[in-house]
Amino acid sequence: MSMHDIVIIGGGLAGLTAASMLSKQGRQVLLIEKKRYPFHRVCGEYISNEVKDFLKKEDLFPDEIEVSKIDSFLLTSVKGKSVTMPLDLGGFGVSRYALDDFLYHKAIAFGTGFLLETQVEDIIFDENEDNFAVTLDDGKVISCKHVIGAFGKRSKVDKALGRDFIKTRSAYIGIKYHIKTDFDKNTVALHNFEGGYCGINSIEDQKFNLCYLGSRDQLRETGSIEAMEKKFLWQNPFLKEIWQNSEFLFEKPEVINEISFLPKQPVENHIIMAGDAAGLITPLCGNGMAIAIHAGKLAAEAILYHQDRALIEANYTEAWLKNFKNRLWVGRNVQKLFGAKGVSEFAVGLIKNSNFIARNIMKRTHGQPF
Ligand SMILES: Cc1cc2nc3c(=O)[nH]c(=O)nc-3n(C[C@H](O)[C@H](O)[C@H](O)COP(=O)(O)OP(=O)(O)OC[C@H]3O[C@@H](n4cnc5c(N)ncnc54)[C@H](O)[C@@H]3O)c2cc1C
Repeated sequence: MSMHDIVIIGGGLAGLTAASMLSKQGRQVLLIEKKRYPFHRVCGEYISNEVKDFLKKEDLFPDEIEVSKIDSFLLTSVKGKSVTMPLDLGGFGVSRYALDDFLYHKAIAFGTGFLLETQVEDIIFDENEDNFAVTLDDGKVISCKHVIGAFGKRSKVDKALGRDFIKTRSAYIGIKYHIKTDFDKNTVALHNFEGGYCGINSIEDQKFNLCYLGSRDQLRETGSIEAMEKKFLWQNPFLKEIWQNSEFLFEKPEVINEISFLPKQPVENHIIMAGDAAGLITPLCGNGMAIAIHAGKLAAEAILYHQDRALIEANYTEAWLKNFKNRLWVGRNVQKLFGAKGVSEFAVGLIKNSNFIARNIMKRTHGQPF
């Protein structure tokens, strides 16, 4: 059994950000990630500019990648009614394949140790010893003082910890492609279809990300992703046009299921939860990556600024609730306006008639630069 200072479980944006912040300050960090970089994951790959200053200041902005600049938003209803508006803060597009790999190499350079292709099976906190025992899939146990849980929306660890959200099944599925197509590079679009919505935006290398949140029941009913797309997504003329006139670059799409938007706790069993592990904002807000990066920073700061475990947990919980709780709530409720035919027509009509409403929704789901 080896002893560590800080173990981070999961090397997405939350885990990699926390790792770099802690390693830079000389803390001993081990990050355990079940995959090997670089790899694709289901994500819309539009990042809000609220993270830009922070990433630049911390030398974590991927200057070496030609990210796209996005400052306009196109929203379409199921029947193809559309509205365009400028994005006040805007964002940039970059694939997770490139971004996560970039941050992985940054973290190594700052001194983070990595255990790749290793899955954490369980985490037990020992009150008497005041430390954690982290069990790996090869049976090894790692002992450590702090654990940051950055294992994403749904993990084996959630089951082992008996977290509440995992007991409720979710009907949402996520599907992603990279494509070459003829679309404005500076616009992020959100196209509604019955049962979900699909985003498209440019990323690096003249490519576009095409990613949607759909329904497991529709997939079951139609029997295949292709048949589901033709039957449900293609009802929106914008989506039909994209599918018919684009080059699809993956052999098969990236797919995930059981995407839950139920509330979670920012600290559980003394584990500091960051990113989706603490709660996933609905993707239509285009904000989960920014929240993951910000939460990774807050988790690192809580550990850096406080010695006492109770203070670390209280400080992090307070910061998490202040920065993210309302945004996640608004995101959950706004999602109810999309996906059903009538409701999406109404939502697009409403936004067409009142930019004020759309601006207000964006303000409430986005944070400020930090
Ligand atoms: C359909 C869809 C579209 C989206 N589009 C956007 C968008 O356009 N913009 C945006 O900002 N956000 C978007 N999001 C949200 C965004 O993808 C997430 O909020 C973000 O990836 C969260 O980062 P994270 O670091 O918390 O988790 P992740 O990036 O998921 O990383 C978690 C990591 O933990 C690892 N892991 C899990 N369990 C274990 C284990 N037991 N042991 C070891 N490793 C483990 C995983 O392999 C993974 O690498 C979208 C989400 C969905 C579902």
